[in-house]
Amino acid sequence: MADTVLVLNCGSSSIKYQLIDDTGSVLARGLAERIGEASGQLSHAGTGGEVERSEPIPDHESGLQAILGAFDEAGPHLADAGLVAVGHRVVHGGDRFADPVLIDDEVVETIRRLVPLAPLHNPANLDGIEVARRIFSAVPHVAVFDTAFHQTMPEHAYTYAVPRQWQRDYGVRRYGFHGTSVAYVAQEAARLLGREPTDTNLIVAHLGNGASITAVAATHSVDTSMGLTPLEGLVMGTRSGDIDPAITAHLGRLAGVSAELVDEALNRKSGLLALAGANDMREVHRRAESGDSGASLALDVYCYRLRKYVGAYYAVLGRVDAIVFTAGVGENDADVRARSLDGLQRLGIEVDSARNAAADREPRFISPADADVAVLVIPTNEELEIAREARTVAARG
Ligand code: ADP
Repeated sequence: MADTVLVLNCGSSSIKYQLIDDTGSVLARGLAERIGEASGQLSHAGTGGEVERSEPIPDHESGLQAILGAFDEAGPHLADAGLVAVGHRVVHGGDRFADPVLIDDEVVETIRRLVPLAPLHNPANLDGIEVARRIFSAVPHVAVFDTAFHQTMPEHAYTYAVPRQWQRDYGVRRYGFHGTSVAYVAQEAARLLGREPTDTNLIVAHLGNGASITAVAATHSVDTSMGLTPLEGLVMGTRSGDIDPAITAHLGRLAGVSAELVDEALNRKSGLLALAGANDMREVHRRAESGDSGASLALDVYCYRLRKYVGAYYAVLGRVDAIVFTAGVGENDADVRARSLDGLQRLGIEVDSARNAAADREPRFISPADADVAVLVIPTNEELEIAREARTVAARG
């Protein structure tokens, strides 16, 4: 069997994984979920069939052991899979990691020190790393950070105009997320455009449950909408995106709500959910079509925010070769794509309605053939990007 990389994405209650060979083919994929709850669930699709199992999964260690069992049952056998690396998705690399890195004890310690920047994500990523290093002790492990791609941002883009000590003592600055996805999509975009990546300027909108937009110049992130945390920027499924930071103190004074509770509401009860009563964009459309004014407003606010950022990043880049849509909403929602770019013809940005409406899974143009600025839809593939990066780092040793 060809050389393979096992890609692990450990959340607090789940482990997502894929086994990817050196041609980029997925040999197996699966999900262990509801880890730590009374009823756990494991789904695995491999070369020899599928496994579906409902049984408690007390922790990440037993989750990974159950996954190993599923590999044995439904293939491929990991022992003969030619595993050359395990690639771990890690959410926050702070300003310590600008590239993927071979994991050793010191790297683990550094990721631990970054936990205050990502208290929900980094601990679960660390659990996964520690357990997987024990189980797959003979292969190199590589950490691939969501923030790393954005470490190229210039100081004026990542600096908040707040007391300097906040950055020095508490790491308060813009980091940005979705970096692995943006890196992948940017390479694919240059290929589709037939341009040298080093001579390509892009605005990449990653619109999933979380959503962000990034200005990419010559393969480097130069600005991105998410900040210290993934809360800043675009309207998302349950997150507000940009708001006046004074709102937290205002609610504290008037409603006696703690900063913790406001933070929780801005992360989990805001965005589309707050305005439309649903966080899934498909449901928001259904409600808007049936005359729900809250859902219509949610769509207006979502697309307007996106358009504002496209204008801002156009100004940041000066010349834009393409605007790229990716992730769940970006890849599937023709209406959001058309509405968010509506009225930008004077900037050379146009969407062709027939191309936009085509339900195609392949990377494609949705702008007219003669447009100044191409508009592209490119399915993202973070796992493949993690596998590629892990393979490269492992080979370097
Ligand atoms: P995640 O951020 O969890 O990786 P995805 O990139 O899978 O999310 O995007 C999930 C979101 O994509 C869903 O919440 C849904 O709103 C949206 N989505 C998926 N399919 C469609 C569709 N056909 N039309 C509009 N939105 C869609």
